[in-house]
Amino acid sequence: MKHPRNIRRYCPKCGKHTEHSVSIYKKRPKSRLKQGERRYARKSKGYGSFPRPVFKRNAKVNKKFLPMLTCKECDRKSSKKGLRLKRFELV
Ligand SMILES: [Zn+2]
Repeated sequence: MKHPRNIRRYCPKCGKHTEHSVSIYKKRPKSRLKQGERRYARKSKGYGSFPRPVFKRNAKVNKKFLPMLTCKECDRKSSKKGLRLKRFELV
């Protein structure tokens, strides 16, 4: 799917339609000091089975893309609905 780089959309902070720039959401690398990672490290230490269900079979065919919108006037970030697509391009 081809998506425009800039769209006009309602901004709740500005209270009107403004120009938004579109980017694709990307997961950040996990921080070792966050609570979930500390818990995971503690749980997987020592004896016992793996603390989380092991992912074996992927039921979904396509990846989910989440377009992130940034208001050009106030820099407020919001997201559009996530879409399952083969390819997502910004034109
Ligand atoms: Zn705004």
